[in-house]
Amino acid sequence: MNLELSEEQEAVRQLAEDFVAREITPHVVEWDRAESVDKSIVKKLGALGFLGLTVPEEYGGSGGDHLAYCLVTEELGRGDSSVRGIVSVSLGLVAKTIASWGSEEQKQQWLPKLTAGEAIGCFGLTEPGTGSDAGNLTTRAVREDGGDYVINGSKMFITNGTWADVVLLFARTNDTPGHRGISAFLVPADAPGLTRRTVHGKLGLRGQATAELVLEDVRVPASALMGPEGKGFSIAMSALAKGRMSVAAGCVGIAQAALDAAVRYAGEREQFGKSIASYQLVQELISDISVDVDAARMLTWRVADLIDRGQDFATAASTAKLFASEAAVRAANNALQVFGGYGYIDEYPVGKLVRDARVMTLYEGTSQIQKLIIGRALTGVSAF
Ligand code: FAD
Repeated sequence: MNLELSEEQEAVRQLAEDFVAREITPHVVEWDRAESVDKSIVKKLGALGFLGLTVPEEYGGSGGDHLAYCLVTEELGRGDSSVRGIVSVSLGLVAKTIASWGSEEQKQQWLPKLTAGEAIGCFGLTEPGTGSDAGNLTTRAVREDGGDYVINGSKMFITNGTWADVVLLFARTNDTPGHRGISAFLVPADAPGLTRRTVHGKLGLRGQATAELVLEDVRVPASALMGPEGKGFSIAMSALAKGRMSVAAGCVGIAQAALDAAVRYAGEREQFGKSIASYQLVQELISDISVDVDAARMLTWRVADLIDRGQDFATAASTAKLFASEAAVRAANNALQVFGGYGYIDEYPVGKLVRDARVMTLYEGTSQIQKLIIGRALTGVSAF
């Protein structure tokens, strides 16, 4: 693996860094306090090709490899995890999954709009009663006489939920217990019977539109089924395996932001007549953050390299997601310690990093679930 970025990769990373400095950083505090990022950011992300990375150009995608995708995701995560999450879900979980599993008609219908930022996607797997145990979800899609499907159920914690134009929805299409009876659907978010409610009071990611979806007799044509009936769980897991790389890259961004802020502040702040950067215990905090940044980034890039070379990457993705998410929490917390009391108020950036980092060990598979995936790969025994 070559750790030197190519000219194209460095150019796209620089483009993302400049975009964050211009379009995101000046608004971060305001969006966090208002509990909403400015929705116009989505079209701007689309215009630069950030919502089309790795999607084939024939469907409006901007091509690029998975390392380029990680570099952009890291920069967005360094700027604002609420914005990074829009891309990770609309592109990473929805558009990329349509590109892999969708029919030609579904690709033509959704990909050009999603990659341009003219439509937003959300990923509807989690339910109020099934999070880690997603294979036991209870939303049902019943086919009427070989015609339409009628869907009933509810979904919880859906990122982009209230903003989305299309829901990649997972529902049970037969009574086979567990994951074998689950199918995937592309449901227009304005379908009659689909209600969306904002989830308020989040600890972090306050700028992001997180929603509960309720489906009451939502009717979709048979052409809304994505992939074969009963394949939905495999589709969801394949989406999440790649999604974990994107979360990990976002976590590298959080940890890098924590490092940048801690180094800057340590150089500016004086106590006992000297810069706090001159104290060994402060340098320990900073060096611990730096080690976490480097290790998380290398694990994340390894996943991108495996995907781009067509190798198995699922265990490496769980490893990267597990380490990078725990590292982001540690790094943000260490940075807050460097800031002392000023880290605890939102005029300074590190409090938000702590709040935003905290969800990373929970979603797209908790840290415990990542350990079970890694353990199963190593031992051959499922301990779920
Ligand atoms: P539970 O599954 O109830 O877990 C509770 C605790 O039990 C955890 O510590 C867990 O690790 C532990 N646990 C559970 N099972 C086991 C086991 N077998 N062995 C050991 N420990 C176990 N979902 C979507 O579908 N789409 C989204 O876009 C989305 N976005 C989200 C955004 C936010 C801000 C949040 C908070 C969540 C989001 N989620 C989304 C849901 C997220 O993926 C779930 O919250 C996550 O999978 C955990 O499920 P749960 O919350 O039901 O916790």
